[in-house]
Amino acid sequence: MRTRFAPSPTGPLHLGHAFSALTAWDLARAAGGVFLLRIEDLDQGRSRPVFEAGITEDLAWLGLEWPRPVLRQSEHRPRYAAALDRLTALGVTYACRCARADIRAALSAPQDGAPVSGEVIYPGTCRGRPAAMAAPGEAIRLNVVRALALAPARLEFVEDGPAHRGRHRVEAADLAGLGDVVLGRRDGAAAYHLAVVVDDAHQGISHVVRGEDLWPATPLHRLLQALLDLPSPVWHHHRLIRDAAGKRLAKRDDARALARYRAEGVAPADIRRLVGL
Ligand code: GLU
Repeated sequence: MRTRFAPSPTGPLHLGHAFSALTAWDLARAAGGVFLLRIEDLDQGRSRPVFEAGITEDLAWLGLEWPRPVLRQSEHRPRYAAALDRLTALGVTYACRCARADIRAALSAPQDGAPVSGEVIYPGTCRGRPAAMAAPGEAIRLNVVRALALAPARLEFVEDGPAHRGRHRVEAADLAGLGDVVLGRRDGAAAYHLAVVVDDAHQGISHVVRGEDLWPATPLHRLLQALLDLPSPVWHHHRLIRDAAGKRLAKRDDARALARYRAEGVAPADIRRLVGL
């Protein structure tokens, strides 16, 4: 068993991250497997070395260990570019020159753009533009309908997290709920959906442990794996840690930052209790 914790170094770790990392760590330990840390720092505008240093410190304080050096995504751009080229060769990508504001304006009814995982469903304005013609500063999107047509007819994935345990089929309707996601960002970096799939395979991750908020993205990740001939891991989506008002914790919730608990003399065992482990 190989699990991973894959934070983006865009803020301090909080209780929700501790729960995710500890869940991945406990699963690996129980099976005599390996726990890996991966730094998802492709968003160079928001990633900061100081946050990466904090992540390392917090996880070590919790008692976690992982092989080094860690995989830092910003150092492996050619790997994602190769995967994107492969998808382009399959004819399932297109170049998109829409700015965020254009996309919002093109969405006639607000419910058409209901955000899934914080993203807006793209209306497909640029679908006819070949990715090979992309100008610098244009995003590359996945044509989800075409991608699904190329994938094996019965595409399935296995979940072993408590809320959705079992075998699931990749359904067109679930993919439609995500829309034509961005795979290549306007700044030239790979987008999360592509990089996560490439690196989970590259690192031989057997069990992808992550928050329930990413459950809706799983059919898409399975689809990308199929198109890229990558092995499919088992997924384990866990509950989200919420604040007293029931809102999920965000990076800006400094009050629940692990560093803050640590400074106040809270012990790692207390953190486990606080997140219900
Ligand atoms: N970098 C992602 C995050 O910070 C991790 C997502 C994943 O585990 O697949 O939410």
